Amino acid sequence: MRYISTRGQAPSLSFEEAMLSGLARDGGLYVPEAIPQMSPEDIRALQGLSYEETAFRVMRPFVGDTFDDATFRDLIDRAYADFGHNARAPLKQLAPNHFLLELFHGPTLAFKDFAMQLIGQMFEHVLTRNGNRVTIVGATSGDTGSAAIEAFRGLEAVDVFILYPHGLVSEVQRRQMTTPAEANVHALAIDGHFDDAQARLKDMFNDFDFRDRVRLAGVNSINWARVLAQVVYYFTAAASLGAPDRKVSFTVPTGNFGDIFAGYVAKRMGLPIDRLVVATNQNDILHRCLTSGDYTKGEVVPSISPSMDIQVSSNFERALFYAYGQDGAAVAQLMDELKAGGFSVSQGALQALREDFASGRVSEEETSAMIRQAHATMGELLCPHSAIGVKVAEDKRDPAVPMVTLATAHPAKFPDAVEAASQIRPPLPKRMEDLYDRPERLTRVANDLKALETLIEERIAP
Ligand SMILES: *Cc1c(COP(=O)(O)O)cnc(C)c1O
Repeated sequence: MRYISTRGQAPSLSFEEAMLSGLARDGGLYVPEAIPQMSPEDIRALQGLSYEETAFRVMRPFVGDTFDDATFRDLIDRAYADFGHNARAPLKQLAPNHFLLELFHGPTLAFKDFAMQLIGQMFEHVLTRNGNRVTIVGATSGDTGSAAIEAFRGLEAVDVFILYPHGLVSEVQRRQMTTPAEANVHALAIDGHFDDAQARLKDMFNDFDFRDRVRLAGVNSINWARVLAQVVYYFTAAASLGAPDRKVSFTVPTGNFGDIFAGYVAKRMGLPIDRLVVATNQNDILHRCLTSGDYTKGEVVPSISPSMDIQVSSNFERALFYAYGQDGAAVAQLMDELKAGGFSVSQGALQALREDFASGRVSEEETSAMIRQAHATMGELLCPHSAIGVKVAEDKRDPAVPMVTLATAHPAKFPDAVEAASQIRPPLPKRMEDLYDRPERLTRVANDLKALETLIEERIAP
């Protein structure tokens, strides 16, 4: 299995190389040269299997010869061993034909643990085998950073630097990043929004001298291995609701388009998915684009669902690549236009996108109202992101098709917003009760490429 760039100008790579490098050298994102297929029989055979066994069968064809079967099974088992629920991603019924896929039972209480825990295992295995060290730099709106730090803390072959927007993440998110005491963990609070952090990260990857000097590796949701790990729970959920003999739809609270793009990959592999519904907060570039074709950057307006406060949705590039018939030059052209502020999607590509994706936008007031209502009528305390998903799903769903809404974080990760909406303060799960008592460690940094690069090189100097 080879991986190619969405911009068509970078050499193809193996799974191992694509995982370690993150972003392609032409600025594009890696996608598999061909998407492996699962037959209806393959999918039927998933019913009743463990999460880990399903993960192995779904991901195996993508990893090529990077791991042998026994090693790959072992890495998957270790990745999910610390989850607080045996099903890993349990499904819960909310209403007739509407289900919640709980993706918050990992160590940092958000869905990003599914990919990050596995990536941590895969990196450690590959780097140890090759005798290499890497510097992982990530940008986060809160949850990626905590998940990455949790996955990489204390590993021998890795330094992990996480850029998060100063003052714009929740206290639980911040503490999950600033309290690990391991020397290889570096939490950097940047003066700016998430989009600034993400832009500086991309600048570092495009500074090839720096990139090579520090052996830069990325674990943001642009990393193909992360998308791949997220494909699995679309299969477990659909199989338990009757796939391949019954179609299922999914609603996904969306920011960077990574999680929902994993659903698109599942569909292209053969999983019978009817609709993939994008749910956004007031930062609604994706909803605007899917309704009008206009992808113009706006100002980020901070919301009570901060993990979706994004105006440039990195993984959308992958969806555009397929919507444009895998034409890398067309994608490169759009991304050039984006640098100048935005682009408009061609009619043909927009039609292609709409065959798979629907979308909805939820205001701040509606988000709070949904948290309140879900608690009162469904007995479910939702985090603000998940509430946005449930709201869009309730508004858009076809009652005849089972709808699965992805619950992307535990309510206790956003206790202030949940309490303001519902008057209930969700407690942290027992295993992280002392989070508020642990000492914090962080470095403030300017929104400046050179300053960041200097800091990183100083910190990793032997
Ligand atoms: C990251 C995140 C999202 C958005 O996921 P994307 O893959 O960026 O679309 C939604 N909800 C929560 C809680 C998150 O942490």
